[in-house]
Amino acid sequence: MLVDSHCHLDRLDYGKKHTDMAQAVARAAKRGVNHILCVSVDLATFPTMKAAIAPFPQVFASCGIHPLHKDELKDLDRLATLAADPQVVAIGETGLDYFYASETAEVQRESFAHHVNVAVELDKPLIIHTRNAQQETLDILREGQANKVGGVLHCFTESLEMAEAAIELGFYISLSGIITFRSAEALREVVKALPLERLLVETDAPWLAPVPFRGEENEPAYTRTVAECIANLKGVPIEEVAAQTTANFFNLFKLAKKAN
Ligand SMILES: [Zn+2]
Ligand SMILES: [Zn+2]
Repeated sequence: MLVDSHCHLDRLDYGKKHTDMAQAVARAAKRGVNHILCVSVDLATFPTMKAAIAPFPQVFASCGIHPLHKDELKDLDRLATLAADPQVVAIGETGLDYFYASETAEVQRESFAHHVNVAVELDKPLIIHTRNAQQETLDILREGQANKVGGVLHCFTESLEMAEAAIELGFYISLSGIITFRSAEALREVVKALPLERLLVETDAPWLAPVPFRGEENEPAYTRTVAECIANLKGVPIEEVAAQTTANFFNLFKLAKKAN
């Protein structure tokens, strides 16, 4: 059993590779991916996202504003209201992305700090997107006492030092198909050094399809490919990676209830 701990199930290009969401969910289940966390990137589309996944008890929702969605970064009032929904299991994705948008750094920081406050207030874990902003990401998590709720650094591509600092704050590290990319040698070394007890797996679909599916639209079924890569790197059976990352997921996202 595997969990896709981070994807955007509502953003797959339905009508092409999959006829609809039910088919994408079924294809995932066929490869042992029995649960999926559908991650919100803005508040405007949150209600439609929630409605779209409602028929699937094995698909969970988060609520938040992605750091690159700059139009909404100042519209924070509604976040606490929408995120209080009992079906929302986590706050995010939020965080800092200085790789693609260093020019909006200040407003990203404000939005991120607000998300941390809301997470602590609602007692829900955080889903963090972080690129090229290691120190400031950790600073904001510490200042906001994010250790009270924990969370995950998703689609991790940063240094071992950052991963270890986040783990010390009670966070998990989630790995995506990027670990299969030929250019990701340094990241694979980081993966080898991290304890399986602190890892999650994800696809971040529809983006970042792993090798050998690059160029295709990504989908939750490919979580298995990410887990296989981790198993190879660590020299353990895929079953062990699946069991541990699934246990980690339900340990972190306590409001997510096993559906099967
Ligand atoms: Zn992200
Ligand atoms: Zn994402």
